[in-house]
Amino acid sequence: MVSSASHLPFNLESFEGRFVPANGSAAPVDREGHLILIQNQDIFLLENRDGAGRIPRGSIPPALIGRVESIVHFGTYLGVPCWAGTVEPGVEPPTGFVRERLAPGQIRLSDDLLSLCGLGQQATYWEATSWHCPRCGEQTVSIRGERGKRCLGCKYDHYPHLHPAVIVLIRDGDRVLLTRKSFWAKGRYGLVAGFVDIGESLEAAAHREIREEVGVTVRDLQYVASQYWPFPSQLMVGFVATYAGGEVRPDHTELEDARWFPIADLPDLPGQHSIARFILDHYARPNGAGTL
Ligand SMILES: [Zn+2]
Repeated sequence: MVSSASHLPFNLESFEGRFVPANGSAAPVDREGHLILIQNQDIFLLENRDGAGRIPRGSIPPALIGRVESIVHFGTYLGVPCWAGTVEPGVEPPTGFVRERLAPGQIRLSDDLLSLCGLGQQATYWEATSWHCPRCGEQTVSIRGERGKRCLGCKYDHYPHLHPAVIVLIRDGDRVLLTRKSFWAKGRYGLVAGFVDIGESLEAAAHREIREEVGVTVRDLQYVASQYWPFPSQLMVGFVATYAGGEVRPDHTELEDARWFPIADLPDLPGQHSIARFILDHYARPNGAGTL
């Protein structure tokens, strides 16, 4: 039996009830004693406690007062309300803080803290992109009890956008087809992945991405797992497929390389927090416990 991907960071199930999303509920009136997450895109300013980053509690550090924008209540962790706010790029961490970047392969945070950072980032992104109406430009207000915003002018209701993307492990006996993007850590390889296009089923998107990125065809495409990926709002839908034919021809506009690797000699792989690694760990081996 394959272990579930629901424990992957950013999936709400991974908290096992420790975090409850705000879902448009009324924000508390003050922030005393609450968790306050300060970030700029994928860079977070965390309190440095015994060498480990922690979300500061209680108040905005004096050095950042007046510099934190779009403060939003995004949920409750272990009964403590959580807020997230943004600062301009390049703001120096105040004394006692560290800058933590959620870059692939460099994540040192616990799964809970990583998930909180991601969800806080997603919440501030939605605030920053929904304060005015995308149709008429008027100001919006929160819809009571929901995540959406309503336009004060044309009354258009606007909800957070989720972007589905497919990610596929291609297997052929005792080897797997992996890809590499130029900006990844040296020597690291991952899976074929890409966004679903308008009008596409998930399956059609997977076949298209495989054809475009690596030039091969596959059969027996099967769904295995999914992971919410809040940078800013992706839903990664994981598949495995069996190689059917064609020569590997990487699309060099997207990839630096694509090649077959023997399962017994895999390169550096994406981190444990990612669905790519989950799929590789559970489905790469044709006779392994995770084989479909
Ligand atoms: Zn409007």
